[in-house]
Amino acid sequence: MSAITELGYMAIGVKDLGRWKAFAGEILGLEVVDEGEPGRCYLRMDFWHHRLILEEDGSDDLQCLGLRVAGPEEFAAMQRVLRDGGVSHQICSRAEAEGRHVLEMMKLEDPNGNPLEIFHGPHVQYSKPFHPGRRMYGRFATGSGGLGHCIIRNRDLDATYRFYRLLGMRGGIEYRIPRPDGTVGEALFMHCNDRDHTIAFGIGGSKRINHVMIEAERFDDLAYTYELVQQRNIPVGITLGKHSNDHQYSFYFLNPSGWLIEYGWGARPASHQSEYYQEDFYGHQFQPHVLTPNWEALDLQKAAE
Ligand code: FE
Repeated sequence: MSAITELGYMAIGVKDLGRWKAFAGEILGLEVVDEGEPGRCYLRMDFWHHRLILEEDGSDDLQCLGLRVAGPEEFAAMQRVLRDGGVSHQICSRAEAEGRHVLEMMKLEDPNGNPLEIFHGPHVQYSKPFHPGRRMYGRFATGSGGLGHCIIRNRDLDATYRFYRLLGMRGGIEYRIPRPDGTVGEALFMHCNDRDHTIAFGIGGSKRINHVMIEAERFDDLAYTYELVQQRNIPVGITLGKHSNDHQYSFYFLNPSGWLIEYGWGARPASHQSEYYQEDFYGHQFQPHVLTPNWEALDLQKAAE
């Protein structure tokens, strides 16, 4: 049995690498590592060589998610699972894997066209302790929970559920939110470790990615980040609040690519049992004047089709 164990890394395409580097270091507190590769830099959160890769490709969107399996046997078993499940995938060369700083890697797409890389053996640098891009009270909560979680593009919740079950993840519908027009919005959350969810679906936008959540170990870092975001006039898309599913206290703000960063603290471990909610504990008010540009882009795109 092979299963994804964590969201190990994420590659992000950006238009303005300089702005992103400043944002990642000065606002998020990530360590910015430039290894002299043109148009690319790495962002660290812990001992890993990187948790995020920034690529200046002009897309301002997700390039791919890096999903980890435990080791070489699980990597081989995952290939058999994909082959038996009729999922096309491409085993990467040693050079390609080395380019990602992992031992082995394969590429595939989920049913929504989101690019994935399944890998094992990340390069972990214990000789290079994490050095935050600006002052921090504590560290990022990664460990066995991976880098955090994300919400990515969805076209078909049932097909998405079946696909990520094949990858060994578990989950289900966690929110059923009544809309003013009488319909109900459903969101699907999949997990693979003690983090409540690692990849979620059902909340739209014009891009592949809606948001990525990174979690601070100390409340002070959430509050300090909130103050920095206010000082720099960075638009807050969803106000401070506490989620019903992961119990995370968090807020969402725009990154230089126009999608959202969720900065969180205080999540509970996954319950590993299904529950659903119609609303959060409190807070998390959507700010339409910030989020609207995305919806306009979506409508424009639809009109152009
Ligand atoms: Fe989230």
